[in-house]
Amino acid sequence: MTAAIYIDPLIIQPVIDGEWHRTRLTEIPAPGQIITMICGASGAALFELSDERRRHQIPRQCERCDTIYRREQGIPPRQGRIGRP
Ligand SMILES: [Zn+2]
Repeated sequence: MTAAIYIDPLIIQPVIDGEWHRTRLTEIPAPGQIITMICGASGAALFELSDERRRHQIPRQCERCDTIYRREQGIPPRQGRIGRP
């Protein structure tokens, strides 16, 4: 018997060195699997509770991922960094 936990790959935002990135994952990575971000950064997948993310430090958004993502989605560039969580 399994108890499935469903995770939307779209909401996976891996944090590397205090920056969170965007990926093009279409499935849940296995722990330790190398995943590549849209900016080209890569790292081994590590699953943690979201509380851990806040506890270590508040991550910043990777500028390159943001720029690429916005260009692809047709979202205008962000004005400054005011008001970002
Ligand atoms: Zn990035």
